[in-house]
Amino acid sequence: MSANPLLRVDRLRKAFGGLMAVSDLSFEIEHGQIKAMIGPNGSGKTTILNLISGVLPPTGGSIHFKGLGITGWKPDAVARRGIARTFQIVRLFRELTALENVMVGCHPWAPAGLLGAALALPRARQAEGRIREEAGAWLEYVGLGGRAQELAGNLPFGEQRLLELARALAAKPSLLLLDEPAAGLNDAERERLCALLLEVQRRGLTILLVEHNMDLVMNVSDEIVVINYGQKLAEGSPDQIKNQQEVIAAYLGDSRA
Ligand code: ADP
Ligand code: MG
Repeated sequence: MSANPLLRVDRLRKAFGGLMAVSDLSFEIEHGQIKAMIGPNGSGKTTILNLISGVLPPTGGSIHFKGLGITGWKPDAVARRGIARTFQIVRLFRELTALENVMVGCHPWAPAGLLGAALALPRARQAEGRIREEAGAWLEYVGLGGRAQELAGNLPFGEQRLLELARALAAKPSLLLLDEPAAGLNDAERERLCALLLEVQRRGLTILLVEHNMDLVMNVSDEIVVINYGQKLAEGSPDQIKNQQEVIAAYLGDSRA
């Protein structure tokens, strides 16, 4: 346990009726880390991201971020404090352009009202150059610079995933929560994602990465936490987790060990 982690989750619990989806879970994320969270389907990973991002209120336990208790905060407040996320099932505004989707991501820091104006009539849009410029820069950053005016719904799936990442980055978070960002990507796209995550880390961001693809996890993670039945099964460096392969195989099945 470090004195000053970026995120501290302590004895977190979430019950859905009689089902304990997250059960007395404690872990920390250090500043600048890429921490991966792995575990079988249904083990509670997405629920954990929902609890951290304020989408769901916890049943018990606490979440501290930048030293401040954020337990039970609403998603907007959590976002303004500096946590952004992507979703396991891509959630884009399909009828908005790629650029507009990223502009929406600027909402935690954009002055109230300006974002609405920026998305409104062409003349009002011109007035809001800063948000457009920022959003455009993030599109370039993820390699979608040429796609700015495409409707999000028309982009190929891999580019939609990257667009979601650009939208999350546009919020200028200190902590990025990614829910299976490599799911559905081809090999080339996954390699690009891998390089991008390391580049994002070099910029000083901290990442909590929920991911099934073990190549990606092993290549980018500083630490891995293994979740099973909403509980922490193991935690350590990629090498340490690899060395516990047999333990993990017993729980997660060979494919993920
Ligand atoms: P993972 O992301 O690891 O696949 P989830 O967090 O999605 O796991 O799900 C953990 C468990 O909680 C599963 O049994 C799932 O069915 C249940 N669950 C998740 N969200 C809800 C919800 N909103 N209402 C009821 N049960 C849920
Ligand atoms: Mg999930």
